[in-house]
Amino acid sequence: MTPSTDRNETLFERAKRVIPGGVNSPVRAFRAVGGTPRFVQRAQGAHFWDANGKRYIDYIGSWGPMILGHGHPAVVEAVQRAVTEGFSFGAPTEREIELAEEILRHVPSMEMVRLVSSGTEAGMSAIRLARGATGRSKIIKFEGCYHGHADALLVKAGSGLATNGYPTSAGVPDEVVQHTLVLEYNNVQQLEEAFALHGKELACLMIEPIAGNMNFVRASAPFMQRCRELCTQHGALLVFDEVMTGFRVAMGSAQSVYAQAIPGFQPDITVLGKVIGGGMPLAAFGGPRAIMEQMAPLGPVYQAGTLSGNPVATACGLATLREIAKPGFFDALSAKTRTLVDGLKKAAASEGVAFSADCEGGMFGFFLLPQLPQNYATVMKTEGARFNQLFHGLLDRGIYIAPALYEAGFVSAAHSAEDLEVTIAAAQHVFKALRG
Ligand SMILES: *Cc1c(COP(=O)(O)O)cnc(C)c1O
Repeated sequence: MTPSTDRNETLFERAKRVIPGGVNSPVRAFRAVGGTPRFVQRAQGAHFWDANGKRYIDYIGSWGPMILGHGHPAVVEAVQRAVTEGFSFGAPTEREIELAEEILRHVPSMEMVRLVSSGTEAGMSAIRLARGATGRSKIIKFEGCYHGHADALLVKAGSGLATNGYPTSAGVPDEVVQHTLVLEYNNVQQLEEAFALHGKELACLMIEPIAGNMNFVRASAPFMQRCRELCTQHGALLVFDEVMTGFRVAMGSAQSVYAQAIPGFQPDITVLGKVIGGGMPLAAFGGPRAIMEQMAPLGPVYQAGTLSGNPVATACGLATLREIAKPGFFDALSAKTRTLVDGLKKAAASEGVAFSADCEGGMFGFFLLPQLPQNYATVMKTEGARFNQLFHGLLDRGIYIAPALYEAGFVSAAHSAEDLEVTIAAAQHVFKALRG
């Protein structure tokens, strides 16, 4: 056999010898769609180049963080300056205060924030805080929402509300998920039943307000309002996992979108990640002072991190937030995303392909389904083979979308009108083939 001339393939073979599946996070392995993952050589603006030197328009942007596009000059400069001052100290820095202040300025439900290094860590700590603050054990999560890979969150629904969920990963004991209730997203009746049964034992309800880990599914305003009311009535905390939506769908994050529909709406605890690190390992969780003061060293809830508030990561996040806080940033970004989504819808309609799509700010989702789904089971009714044909058709034409039908997409400020036109034209070709 002659060796492959495809460097992506060569690298993938080499990677698989030393890294399980050749990747450090499973979705990167292209298992759902088949084919060879693209190994990224470098990226600039809205584009990246793979190991063969082929250019792609990037709609993943590191799964959301790269809201300014790759290599934004102000961010690169801030990171370069920070690196020359030192990588990590294990002692506090002024920049951590600046980043905390910047986050709190835009998300009024948070009065204090703790910085950590990954969304998983932030979500896991938020749950510990909710349990510590309420003295209760049970938590609610929703099927199709992802909150990182903490043991208690790797769980799927059992056969009924009175029964426990099942772990979705080997290595998670049944006992560890026995306090996690898994409900259907947007199902008010189930929600009410769960609170009626377990209200007094519930520490928190955790939710992705606009779920980006089952493609793009909004919690309806009436459903969200009911979540808020029931939490308040029963003394459970409403935890918004905005790791993906935070500073991505609006400067005030998804909670500001719900506050427009539900007067005075606020969650209790907010979990952030992705955009606030601008592409560096940084995440956070925060809320009202009285709750956050339960955290060590003030209170009894322990949490710590060697690299928490890392000076290079905070420089990157701070520079990113300062850029996106500039007037008109989100209006322009939202208009771009809307142009893409409307263009894709029109292209699919003209080819007679069943298609639906939605977006908010710089985040979007589309489905090979006639109507927008409201929950995970409906998302998964998408015909996998058709999605894979769409994915590979776009990839061949230099358009990089998520390699799984249950993931959202992201537009950055660096995407040009031409990038969007090229994408829509490529999609139109693929839709034609899909219909035939
Ligand atoms: C990405 C994500 C996480 C996990 O963040 P990591 O940094 O990958 O650990 C948690 N919640 C949501 C909603 C996410 O999108």
